[in-house]
Amino acid sequence: MVNYYSADYIFPVSAKPIHNGIIGVDENGEIIGVYESGAKEISDKTITKHKGIITPGFINTHCHLELSHLKGKFAKGTGLIPFIEAVIGQRNANEKEVVKAMQSADSEMKRNGIVAVGDIANLAISKETKEKSSLYYHTFIEILCFEPEKAQEVFRDGLALCESFDGLPSSITPHAPYSVCKEIFRFLKQLHKPETNLLSIHNQESEEENKLYRYKSGQFIDFYRKLNRDIGFFKAQARDSIQTIVPLLPKRQPVMFVHNTYTNMKDIFFVDRFAGNVTWCLCPNANLYIENRLPKIDLFLNQDSPITLGTDSLASNDKLCILSELLTLHAHFPHLKLEDTLKWATLNGAKYLGIDHQYGSLEKGKKPGLNLISHAQGLKLSENSTVTPLI
Ligand SMILES: [Zn+2]
Repeated sequence: MVNYYSADYIFPVSAKPIHNGIIGVDENGEIIGVYESGAKEISDKTITKHKGIITPGFINTHCHLELSHLKGKFAKGTGLIPFIEAVIGQRNANEKEVVKAMQSADSEMKRNGIVAVGDIANLAISKETKEKSSLYYHTFIEILCFEPEKAQEVFRDGLALCESFDGLPSSITPHAPYSVCKEIFRFLKQLHKPETNLLSIHNQESEEENKLYRYKSGQFIDFYRKLNRDIGFFKAQARDSIQTIVPLLPKRQPVMFVHNTYTNMKDIFFVDRFAGNVTWCLCPNANLYIENRLPKIDLFLNQDSPITLGTDSLASNDKLCILSELLTLHAHFPHLKLEDTLKWATLNGAKYLGIDHQYGSLEKGKKPGLNLISHAQGLKLSENSTVTPLI
């Protein structure tokens, strides 16, 4: 049984949008064809016509399911360090409550047309939710260790946690430049085939991170003092955090830098020169929630590395919805083209997660999910645009 759908535009992402195009999908969600309006081979078929734009399912490349129970708990615009302190203080909760919130977050993403997720985990608690979900999850097991003497033990524990996700795609990753020491990067280099271990690193989410790396000053000094962590070993690097850690990565290491709120042109040039396989993940709604600021988007338009989108967690976002991230970007940067940003929301994320054989674009043989964006204005979003998964 094949269902045929048409809309004002079919947006394959891998090809130009098709005005009044038609798409055929079998009962397993596999695309059997994408057609021009009036194509002869389907002239006798029943076609369900929609208003709006049909796109592939969205890929959310940055989420923390584990923090879903913290929805609405934190004030907006406090800045990153007070936000981290609040998460540390309040993340512990009753296991049932955490699991229920994760399941509800998973359902919310499905309703919002998200089909695959890059999810950060510090614990094994999300495993069952992921096993039961119809969404694809890649779990990034996150390492936090700023103390060199503890690095070996923390890395070993991280690998064990990664193994406990067996059967589910997972990899081990440093949390952020301000929360891991150089030794962690040394252990990453020693992994068997590090190029198959996807990294997802929080990057320059706050100017304080740059202050720490450039001058060993700023709020992170107090942050570690309050935690009773001695960072006497750490030396000012006289350059931004990203420029310090990129040379520590294995060659050709796939790495996704997440947030990039305070990344500047020099950083991007540096990354272009030194790193072979970088993806930039933007989480605009979380950036507005925490720092009330957005990355310098235009800098990322003029470089070669792909861009993806993430929601971050419900601790720093009112919803888990990639369309909502797109709406924020287009509202703040009206010159952005939907042809570009839809690629960020779909195919680029699928490529980073290594699942583009199935997800990310409307092509024959793929099972990417099918979203209808309603209340669009031709090929543009409007502030009232909504998303509904068609299958
Ligand atoms: Zn995050």
